[in-house]
Amino acid sequence: EYQLLSALLSPRSTLRALPSALRAPRSTLYTMSTTPMMQQYRDAKARHPGMLLLFRMGDFFETFEEDAETAAKVLGLTLTSRDKTIPMAGFPHHSLETHLHKLLHAGYRVAICDQVEDAALAKGLVKREVTRVVTPGTITEDDLLDPRQSNHLAALYPAGHEVGVAWLEVSTGIFHAADIAGARLADELARLAPAECLAAEKNASVIAEVLEKLPAPPALTQRPDWTFDAASSKSALGQHFKVATLTGFGFDDAQPCLVAAGALLLYAQEMLKSELAHIRRLQPFASNKVLQLDEVTRRSLELTRTLRDGGREGSLLAAVDRTVTSMGARLLQDWLLAPLADSAGRTALQGRPDGTADPQYRADGPADPSYEKSGRQAIEQRLDAVEELIQTQSLRDELRRALSDVHDLPRLVTRASTGRALPRDLSAIARTLRLLPRIKAKVTSRRAALLQTLESQLELCPDLREALDAALVEDPPLSPREGGLIRPGYSAELDELRDTARGGKEWIARFQAQEIQRTGINSLKVGFNRVFGYYIEITHAHAAKIPTDYQRKQTLKNAERYITPELKEYEEKVLSAEEKSHQREYELFLALRDQVGAQTHRLLQTGEVLAQLDVLASLAELAVSRQYIRPKLVDEPVLILRDGRHPVLEQTLPAGTFVPNDARLTADDGTLWLITGPNMSGKSTFIRQVALLTLMAQMGSFLPAREAAIGLVDRIFTRVGASDELSRGQSTFMVEMTEAANILNNATPRSLVILDEIGRGTSTYDGVSLAWAITEFLHHQIGCRALFATHYHELAQLAETLPNLRNYNVLVREWQEDIVFLHKIAAGSADQSYGIHVARLAGVPAEVLGRAKEVLAQLEAHHLDKELPKPRRRRSSILPELQPSLFGKEPT
Ligand code: ADP
Repeated sequence: EYQLLSALLSPRSTLRALPSALRAPRSTLYTMSTTPMMQQYRDAKARHPGMLLLFRMGDFFETFEEDAETAAKVLGLTLTSRDKTIPMAGFPHHSLETHLHKLLHAGYRVAICDQVEDAALAKGLVKREVTRVVTPGTITEDDLLDPRQSNHLAALYPAGHEVGVAWLEVSTGIFHAADIAGARLADELARLAPAECLAAEKNASVIAEVLEKLPAPPALTQRPDWTFDAASSKSALGQHFKVATLTGFGFDDAQPCLVAAGALLLYAQEMLKSELAHIRRLQPFASNKVLQLDEVTRRSLELTRTLRDGGREGSLLAAVDRTVTSMGARLLQDWLLAPLADSAGRTALQGRPDGTADPQYRADGPADPSYEKSGRQAIEQRLDAVEELIQTQSLRDELRRALSDVHDLPRLVTRASTGRALPRDLSAIARTLRLLPRIKAKVTSRRAALLQTLESQLELCPDLREALDAALVEDPPLSPREGGLIRPGYSAELDELRDTARGGKEWIARFQAQEIQRTGINSLKVGFNRVFGYYIEITHAHAAKIPTDYQRKQTLKNAERYITPELKEYEEKVLSAEEKSHQREYELFLALRDQVGAQTHRLLQTGEVLAQLDVLASLAELAVSRQYIRPKLVDEPVLILRDGRHPVLEQTLPAGTFVPNDARLTADDGTLWLITGPNMSGKSTFIRQVALLTLMAQMGSFLPAREAAIGLVDRIFTRVGASDELSRGQSTFMVEMTEAANILNNATPRSLVILDEIGRGTSTYDGVSLAWAITEFLHHQIGCRALFATHYHELAQLAETLPNLRNYNVLVREWQEDIVFLHKIAAGSADQSYGIHVARLAGVPAEVLGRAKEVLAQLEAHHLDKELPKPRRRRSSILPELQPSLFGKEPT
């Protein structure tokens, strides 16, 4: 076929005839080739606009024209061409998955056009069809998905100041929608990290601008405007969920996010060529029920990846993750990125706060009116469950052991329900179902309400389990079409067909022996070939001995092939028996797959229960292994952490070397702590630790501390070193100020604000003034809990005018010429920067250090000492141009 292609694709003569075509753009040139195969290619391509088409040719997948250029670039393939006209690039078919992975990762949507008949049997052009369409957001295959990450498909529909957003995890059927204020869109999208975003053609350019700025920009898929239309969306959702209105799900029918949800559903159905029965509800995402974290905060607290290299290792997630299933790992990440918060008195009849199965949320219908749990109650429930799992070691250990053998139920079930499951998927479901009774028994009659609810929701699906166990062999083959997957004894009909097929093979052996004896030709062979069927092969040397009842079938170079009536008769019987048995097995497999599909809802619910049990047991395991304690949740806006430890650093430092610290943000002890101290002393470790522990408490985790009392916060804001932003083309100072503006405009009295240096990226003069004014604003106007680490000692004076501000510093001991960081937070402000000491530690040459000391001494003598209002400030790191008068007058 290759040679044929090169011959047929040569359009030289055509080009000569049409010289003007040479001047035409290349895409015009491409259309010149009209061989039947290229026509077949173009038809498939035209039916899948916007997709890269992989075209099966023999053992290769080929791409042509523009696709070939893309594939060559993205996949590193060699670009070849036929007679220098049609670019072409391909790869062997067995490496399809690897290449698909790369294409999807690069944001391409791919259509796979396969040969749908045996090339050897084809008369003329091999029949080909697009058998699979894969887009970054609609993957269900295990080998293309990261087991520990959710893979979201999102749809965006701008409407005034809001954007209607819907997001679906196709591989598990978890489907959400919410109207999000334009200003918060980027934050929400960064949290979801969708792989693919849909937008109506008319909105595509606006949406593209938003997506480009995300940390991991998703692929943007433009959809016809009519799919993003209120009426068509409503009918799509109505048909799918079999409801006339979505108010039962907690939506108002006029919400823009429903337009996005409908458009998304249509797209997903089209791509997967399936009804998507596994999507059983659309859940409103109530952002007032989760602790809000903007992207800057998520990133700077290194919740799921580090600032340094963007890897998972070193993040909070990696430090706390003790899950043993991939669905648990995904849920833990959800909990961590969206901890719970109190919805400020609002009763939310609005689905789950954290986006997963809620114990009291009815699967198929409207939300249960009893679902009025406050965020705090929900957290307490998680903590109760974790506590019970901590106290009952046998429960924890055995549960984790059983869970570690459980497979990824939601993804397996989704494949079954969308008609993609393979025999191995069904046997993985069967193995998982076998473990359920043990897990359920373990969780039965527990004290914690959450464990009780989970237990009651754990569906054992015994009927399905029996069916699968009875039908499937223990280790079925990959393909469902080649037999060997159904147990003997399951179907009498199948057993009979198999017997015949096997008997036939034995018969062939006997027949061969018999014919050898009859003809006296020892080299006589009975063989089989897919095209010609059974034959007797005899070399030309023995031609004389051939009996008369042998009919010639095929002539080879050295041999002749024959058939006899007896052989023909058996051939028919055997072949059809084998074929029929494979066909029967395939039918039985499809029936089983449908049987699994019919239980989709129960199985998905069970998957969610298993994921929650895994996360709770993981939190318990973590608490035990790292000696965590249960935080007390209180009404007052306080934050008390006695001997708190940094959850990540404590695990990386040698055991026993981490220095625990107290934080007491209360009315009596001040709610705004100003922490001064030299660089490297541990300021930022301390303030991040406070933020991380607060966040962990609100996700339902125990804490690395001796004692903790926490009044829930509604948002955590951080402003931390901005070095990583430089690569995004913004100046450090601009980034700092943008972040500060965001905090000052959005923080509420229930927020927690963490500032790690502010005003550094400008002159000292500017910097201190801004830091000063920002501190006052936080104190007077917002009145939230805040920790501010700074090396501007000048700010310490604020304590005299701001009653809720307290000065703290990190203790440092001078030892001979050196300094020792004690990493201990203590009351009072630092009086030295130790900048020169730190420079020495960093290896700055002695000559420079010596000179710096001289300059410092001069500066202090001439400019600062006497005139500054506060006598305790003996030295300063500030630069010469700083005028003492700045601190002479009281701030207003
Ligand atoms: P700063 O913000 O004051 O410049 P960091 O918080 O970045 O300092 O801390 C510098 C280093 O000091 C950390 O990388 C860590 O190794 C160590 N450190 C900080 N806090 C502690 C602590 N409580 N116990 C032990 N080591 C600490």
